[in-house]
Amino acid sequence: MKILVVNAGSSSLKYQLLNMENEEVIAKGNCDRIGIGGHVSAKTGDGRALEADCDFPTHTEAFEKLVEVLTTGETKVIDSMAEISAVGHRIVQGAEVFKETCLVTDEVIDKIDSLAELAPVHNHPHALALRACKKVLPEGTPQAVVFDTAFHSNMPRKAYLFGLPYEDYENYAVRKYGFHGTSHRFVSAELAKVLGKDLKDLKIVSCHLGNGSSITAVKDGISVDTSMGFTPLDGLVMGTRCGAVDPSAITFVMKKHGFTPDEMTDYMNKKSGFLGVSGISSDNRDIQAAADKGNERAQAVSELLTYQIKKYIGSYAAAMNGVDAILFTGGIGENSPEVRAAVLSDMDFLGIELDAAANNVRGKLTKISTDASKVACYVVPTNEELLIARDTLALISK
Ligand code: ADP
Repeated sequence: MKILVVNAGSSSLKYQLLNMENEEVIAKGNCDRIGIGGHVSAKTGDGRALEADCDFPTHTEAFEKLVEVLTTGETKVIDSMAEISAVGHRIVQGAEVFKETCLVTDEVIDKIDSLAELAPVHNHPHALALRACKKVLPEGTPQAVVFDTAFHSNMPRKAYLFGLPYEDYENYAVRKYGFHGTSHRFVSAELAKVLGKDLKDLKIVSCHLGNGSSITAVKDGISVDTSMGFTPLDGLVMGTRCGAVDPSAITFVMKKHGFTPDEMTDYMNKKSGFLGVSGISSDNRDIQAAADKGNERAQAVSELLTYQIKKYIGSYAAAMNGVDAILFTGGIGENSPEVRAAVLSDMDFLGIELDAAANNVRGKLTKISTDASKVACYVVPTNEELLIARDTLALISK
């Protein structure tokens, strides 16, 4: 059985085709630059590849190209789309409407589109891709939607409510939603498996650290708090996002620069974070290299990031009345022994003891704490596409 996983953005359509018998990737790629030209990069599991410029005025043409690269030419892996049992889509914002994975109907697509105000960059493109996919796929191919917010949808009120007037929650749905839920759900379940325990008996702090970063407190298998908020801007300092800032500083800076709300949103999302603080780069590798050479602003970024992560671990340990395990995932979490070591050092008040030799690892499921450590610390590579494919399969098998 083959499942196609689609992650659509405003100008890109990333995909993976998975064989669910062995959960291996048959093909993956990206139809990019939608609306501003067009480019396809495609790879097959057996090493064939294609890079080509195309013309993608809309998501529909990008989807047609996706079908073409899967079914014809150098990157052909299937004879026709009829071989695909279902398509699973990653959707960023499900708000209070979608609390779990569900099958796609016209009504579901319209609802996702109607949530665009809460996720302007993501939900409308998702709806465009869902409609394009329906147009291009053989009639009756089931499609499922898996929401980044769903894993956090059982957070208690004390974690999701802001201290704004309650009417803003009631009238405008202003609250914490949290994101990266698919990743936190996948890695926390993987960790429970490795520990040989039931997820329902564990208190886990899950640190997803990438270009976008979030930390989630997973208690008894439920996300009880998470660092991202109303949008993916809240919480930790990120590649180009500022993370949590005193709201008054935002209105102050807006006035100083004469920014409109949209300009300020752009400033906080694209010009802040590692990039804005360092003035060098949004990429952790560049920051690390510059910090090693003595660049003070790069050093400030590293300090800021690791200090904030430490504080989240401490606060979530308090929120859960303990912590059994801490896991690191995402580009930085999986690949930066330096960040992990800085986070886990001087944490003996929690009984954390890092195994420095084991921590010297990249991208592999690894225990990085000593056997004596009271908290088990792990690197757990994430795989959101696999979870989306599993969810889709489970839904169509019902
Ligand atoms: P996204 O959030 O866009 O999915 P990723 O999870 O791919 O991003 O994470 C990207 C980040 O991971 C970048 O800051 C990058 O520098 C960092 N990263 C990737 N590989 C390494 C590495 N070997 N060492 C340190 N940082 C790394």
